Amino acid sequence: MKFCWFWGNKLLFVDQSYLEKFDYIVVGAGISGLTTALILAKEGKKVAIFERNSDIAPLLRPYKRKGVSISPGLHVCGWMGKGEIVEKFLNYLNVSDGVEKVLSENGYGTVIVNNKIYNIPRGYEAIKEALCFYFPDYRQTIINYLDLIKECVDQIFYFNHSLPPLKNLHTSFIDASNSSFRVYLQKHNAPEELIELLDAMSYLLVGSRGNELPFLMHSFVIGGFFQSPGFFPFNGITRMLDNFKRELSKYGVKIFLNKEIKKVLVDEKKQAIGVETVDGKKYSSSNVIVTFNPKLLVSMLDKGVLRPIFIKRLEDAQNTFGFYVAYYKVKRELKITSKSIVFYDGHRDLLIGLILNENSNCYVLSAFMPENETNFSYEKFSEEQKKELAMKKLQLIEDTIYNILPEIKNDLELISFLKPWSFEKYTKTVNGSAYGTKQSVDYIGFQHKIPVKNLYLVGQSIYPGFLGAMISAFSLCLEILESNSFWAKVVENETK
Ligand SMILES: Cc1cc2nc3c(=O)[nH]c(=O)nc-3n(C[C@H](O)[C@H](O)[C@H](O)COP(=O)(O)OP(=O)(O)OC[C@H]3O[C@@H](n4cnc5c(N)ncnc54)[C@H](O)[C@@H]3O)c2cc1C
Repeated sequence: MKFCWFWGNKLLFVDQSYLEKFDYIVVGAGISGLTTALILAKEGKKVAIFERNSDIAPLLRPYKRKGVSISPGLHVCGWMGKGEIVEKFLNYLNVSDGVEKVLSENGYGTVIVNNKIYNIPRGYEAIKEALCFYFPDYRQTIINYLDLIKECVDQIFYFNHSLPPLKNLHTSFIDASNSSFRVYLQKHNAPEELIELLDAMSYLLVGSRGNELPFLMHSFVIGGFFQSPGFFPFNGITRMLDNFKRELSKYGVKIFLNKEIKKVLVDEKKQAIGVETVDGKKYSSSNVIVTFNPKLLVSMLDKGVLRPIFIKRLEDAQNTFGFYVAYYKVKRELKITSKSIVFYDGHRDLLIGLILNENSNCYVLSAFMPENETNFSYEKFSEEQKKELAMKKLQLIEDTIYNILPEIKNDLELISFLKPWSFEKYTKTVNGSAYGTKQSVDYIGFQHKIPVKNLYLVGQSIYPGFLGAMISAFSLCLEILESNSFWAKVVENETK
């Protein structure tokens, strides 16, 4: 419905079907959406978040099964050292109170590749010595590889705080990384065993394989795990999310829960002007920021808004794998040297990550297995077929655990089992993809700007993982806000 009034000598029409008007509407309350909304609100913008679930951060929020807390989507994180970027971000956002960060004593942990066991410690020097011990004939290759990782990381202002912020980080990423890290290692005569080891370590954290992952993206993720790998205890994650709620409310951000966005509204000049929810309500905004899988954009915009060339880019983008995740209560104390084990069997292309966490009253073993078939469309599966597939995958996970840790065969109690379609159901990420769309040298990755004015993209499809999603939020805000003064507040924030 429209009504009009006079302003000076102008007749203005106001569309009353719009409920409220914001500077920025953020679609999705995952870590990227929460971070973007809070930064913009702290910097004086009127912001709203729309989330289809009944609470914020469904992918991160720990939940309880059989009295045990488990978190779906945040188990490990790089750059967890004092004064490093995770701390800077959380302090700037003022969400770090009561949130413990733990550095992993054993570094990356144990990696078993084709039945050979490697222990990957923490810190470049220690890793260099360990890798040279396992591959004594390739010392120079290993040194060159680690030096290049350090060099790449050192050129990125998120990790080297003496550098000024670059507004468009992604462009420099693309320019500087035309080759995949597998091609780099092959060119430097690395043996296949070493490449497989590094690929297994990296694939679990990024969702793109060594032959597709740009070296620079590999360095940014693995660099953090070489230098300062760590984790947040689950109660710390809950606390962090509660802190987000407190800060968002302090800065007047309106959070709409159980509100799924059906459409991003665009005017005749092809600029975003708001959103429409599935219950038909419209909200007006000068800008819209979406955090979901970019492949969903086509269905959210009217026909003709996106040019065919961009639609083709969306179609060409591949999704990262979806995870099968099994959580077990461990009925007795486990004496294992590493709390994190990665198992890779190249012949079966079987990759499984195991993480042991201490809960308040017991140990919890989490097992992550990627679905290698990333183009699966679970929609076509009947409930019966899904059940059958899930049972097969669970069996594979359990056989692998018993193979690696035979002594605990009778001490595990399954408490929760998540499948790729569980993640798709909650977060709408296509095929349950754990890290959104793939990072690949084969096609141009996504940036914040979408060819629709005032419509932006943030989230894991730009930079993968918890920290990547946060970086994507900060880098969009660097584009939107006056970068130098805003960034100064982030890096100058005193370590608490
Ligand atoms: C099993 C698993 C384990 C993982 N482990 C780790 C780990 O240990 N370390 C790490 O760094 N990363 C890990 N990740 C990846 C990490 O969790 C993600 O990269 C990160 O949380 C993504 O954040 P995001 O904000 O980009 O996306 P999301 O968290 O997916 O946020 C998008 C939000 O948008 C909402 N949404 C979607 N469509 C709509 C709509 N139409 N209307 C309204 N709301 C909508 C969704 O519900 C969701 O809340 C893991 C992922 C999985 C699946």
